[in-house]
Amino acid sequence: ATHLVWFRHDLRVTDNTALYQACQDDDAQVIAIYIATPKQWHEHHMSARQAWLIEQHIQHLQKSLAELNIPLLYRQTETFDEVAPIIQAVCQQYQVSDLFYNKQYQWNERQRDKAVTAHLANTDVRIQAFDDAVFFAPGSVLTGAGKMYQVYTPFRHKCCEQLSSQNTTVYAKPKKRISAALSVTTDSITPFSYTTQRVVDFPTGEPRALSCLRDFCQKHVDRYLQQRDYPALDATSHLSAYLALGVLSVRQCFARLQMEYPDLLHATSSGAFGWFSQLLWREFYLHLLFMYPKLSKNKPFIDWTERVQWRENQADFDAWKNGLTGYPIVDAAMRQLNQTGWMHNRLRMIVASFLVKDLLIDWHRGEHYFMSQLIDGDLALNNGGWQWAASTGTDAAPYFRIFNPTTQGERFDPNGQFIRQYLPELALVPDEAIHQPHKWAQSHQVKLDYPAPIVCHAKARLYTLAAFKAAR
Ligand code: FAD
Repeated sequence: ATHLVWFRHDLRVTDNTALYQACQDDDAQVIAIYIATPKQWHEHHMSARQAWLIEQHIQHLQKSLAELNIPLLYRQTETFDEVAPIIQAVCQQYQVSDLFYNKQYQWNERQRDKAVTAHLANTDVRIQAFDDAVFFAPGSVLTGAGKMYQVYTPFRHKCCEQLSSQNTTVYAKPKKRISAALSVTTDSITPFSYTTQRVVDFPTGEPRALSCLRDFCQKHVDRYLQQRDYPALDATSHLSAYLALGVLSVRQCFARLQMEYPDLLHATSSGAFGWFSQLLWREFYLHLLFMYPKLSKNKPFIDWTERVQWRENQADFDAWKNGLTGYPIVDAAMRQLNQTGWMHNRLRMIVASFLVKDLLIDWHRGEHYFMSQLIDGDLALNNGGWQWAASTGTDAAPYFRIFNPTTQGERFDPNGQFIRQYLPELALVPDEAIHQPHKWAQSHQVKLDYPAPIVCHAKARLYTLAAFKAAR
């Protein structure tokens, strides 16, 4: 038998369900493939940073697989439309008996996989697909009435209940195959035809990701609940990019956490549980994406919000994008995104709320801009986060609850320590004035190289409320 493992966003060898299952038969010849689809990635607004991380990890994967005597084939095409014929041709060329892959839940990815099934329908190739990116198969965590949860907290309770009554298996790295798959050579991965942008100081490779996870669980998770909302403290795990590309699995995160905190599921006020709850937010958004295909198709969850009359103001959008709104917390956050490809969660909420509720600009534009910059861009989480902030999603902030960017800054960056990291032009402004520098500049007759607020929050709040009311 010849087993073909098709890698997608599961770029790891440990705890990889498809790979593990493909290696269960000691006699089978195992080969692997990765197919890059640059044009599709453009359509999905994938950032050059994430492309860089993918490229790095395919190379790491190729090496780790070679050590297991599994060659990784590499193909490039334009879009998902051409993927099925490639898989079919590879199956034919190597006389593949079984195709193994881990499922993806976005709509386009599901259509691609359906096309593969159709192409292989008249062949002898068996397809084995697994739910690997999640704790539970989407669609299997349901209310008593058999419906998908629309609210996070009861969803979380149900997940915890299911997790405490079952063992979570973490699959070991497969054993080395006795001999390399005959007659298959490993392909070169470069040139990788997508613009890539290296992220300085970002550790790559599965072992590094695992050691970051261990380090976080051993040394930092205790303080997570007290510190997670303060960007200057940088108290979160920074594991999102690995989770987005499947360099780490959620089961590995859970297992490591449980190793440090065996009572995790019962200690609900602990830092460890607080962090675990974030992994369940991820789970929630992935389940929603699967259950509601409209979320993959630029549609809001709440239908009436499609009627909100957004403003088209390009100058305001550019000011937001470039961190020049005159609201220091918003601007520092956007510059963190532009410079590093990552933004703290509290700040993602603040800047998303600002774009939608203060500038009344369509949340899709912010969602796409985020994807184009983020190293951890993930449709389910990004869309979930944006729809939460825009009050268009499940369990979202109600539309009349509008963040005040100044008081958010005062609360979560009281001395402006974070703001100062990204806005050197405010160096002279004292701590107590850091959230409203234009006022200080005015009263001290100082000219700052920093814009006055582009919008008055109090007025913006009123027109946004009116726009949502009218749509409703
Ligand atoms: P930690 O606090 O250490 O959390 C651990 C993990 O839990 C994260 O890596 C992530 O996988 C998950 N997680 C954490 N917070 C959330 C959340 N609010 N919702 C869902 N899952 C969460 N996350 C992405 O991975 N990709 C995105 O494209 C993305 N876009 C977002 C857009 C907006 C508008 C908002 C409000 C949030 C978005 N998030 C996104 C969620 C969250 O901001 C990031 O996951 C988090 O900041 C990553 O940092 P961390 O790994 O240090 O998180």
